[in-house]
Amino acid sequence: MMCSLNDGCNKIFKDSNTKDALIINVNNSKCRKCLIQDGHVVLRKKDVYCKDCFIPMVIHKFRATLGKSKLVKQGENVMICVSGSQCSISLLHLIWSGLQQTTHKRLTFTPVVLHIDETVLFGYSKERFIQFKELFESYNLPYYIISFSSALYSENVLDEDCYLQKYDKKLKSLFNSKFDLTLKQDILIRLRKLAIIRIARALNCTRVMTAENEQKLSIKLLSNVALGRGSQIGNEIGLAINNKSINTSIVFLRPLRDLSAKEVSFYALFNQLNDLEHPNFLTKTNEDESIQKISEQFINSLQEEFPSTISTIFRTGEKIVEKTTIDNTCVICNGIMDTDMPLSSSVEATRFSKYVSQMGVNAVEANLNDLNLKKKLRESCCNEDCNCSNEKFTKQDIINCLCYGCQHIVQNLDSVDDLPDEIIKICKENLADKSMKKQIKDFLL
Ligand SMILES: [Zn+2]
Ligand SMILES: [Zn+2]
Repeated sequence: MMCSLNDGCNKIFKDSNTKDALIINVNNSKCRKCLIQDGHVVLRKKDVYCKDCFIPMVIHKFRATLGKSKLVKQGENVMICVSGSQCSISLLHLIWSGLQQTTHKRLTFTPVVLHIDETVLFGYSKERFIQFKELFESYNLPYYIISFSSALYSENVLDEDCYLQKYDKKLKSLFNSKFDLTLKQDILIRLRKLAIIRIARALNCTRVMTAENEQKLSIKLLSNVALGRGSQIGNEIGLAINNKSINTSIVFLRPLRDLSAKEVSFYALFNQLNDLEHPNFLTKTNEDESIQKISEQFINSLQEEFPSTISTIFRTGEKIVEKTTIDNTCVICNGIMDTDMPLSSSVEATRFSKYVSQMGVNAVEANLNDLNLKKKLRESCCNEDCNCSNEKFTKQDIINCLCYGCQHIVQNLDSVDDLPDEIIKICKENLADKSMKKQIKDFLL
């Protein structure tokens, strides 16, 4: 068979046979699938596979997940997000191999590769940028490398000159707010998702693939619960997720979610895939410094000692997906608006007790009067073209459009002006929507 790779790809795969030296025969056991060859991989302490049976098994799992309920249509534009992690590099390879197939098994969607360049936050070297370029060119797929700040702030994210200092300045200023490590990491994840959505929209991609494996999703699951984002778990770990508040047509897919960390590692090893892993906020930090890190350490230690437990955590988490009729979603993370609950909810209770402990009981009374006054003012004077100060957009207005987790972020933000315009815009629309609903409520049955 003719190889359709260009030179760069040959570079990656040329010595795929020499690496065999790295593969050790496992306890002289035979592969449990073919029962002929020596085992090279041990999964979950007892499942032994040889290399020749292992790779097809991983591919099969990936294809089975992807094939579920026909998530991707023929010819559909699909954005593949590559951060440089081993998972993302493996995802890229799995997709690329799927596109090379000549049989009916060939993947038929149209992929676009995306790498969001976070140099502005982490000061990466120029070489790293070149490494990504070389990697993508070796696959011969259309690709984009876009700076994180332009993806968030620029009107046209595909602008030729996407490295603009004014955007960098805004993003830096946002991350210079008084965040602890937990919040910093949390907002990074939320903004990254917004950036991906904006780019996908500009590229007319209706599907976005991200590369989290079972282990990464389990870490996400635990840290989200600890961050007070329990009601959003479904969004965070599900296979196919729609993003209601920002764009209804873009669906996020996680085709590696049924693969374990070990399976991805061996797939990368057998295919000679070098990752371009990079330092981020959590790198070289201690586990007591952030919720995300402690979740990561916990899952990693399970991975070593009780690997099958991770699967249990993950599968259990899947079952506690909130069934809700609320169609409001948070404007930052797209999660369920757990703050838009009746006054008796626990969120309200927490908010109330926090307020009382900070301000004292008298303040509550004063505040209630103040609220009523404001309400009256608003009702009496504000209409569509009123420019009075009641209509001025405040931090509190934004907070009202956010879920419990994102409220924490914005409360600690130095200036809401550093938030991407898109977030502010949707907040304004939401508020206008709400006030309109309120106005016409009395006329509805
Ligand atoms: Zn075998
Ligand atoms: Zn949120």
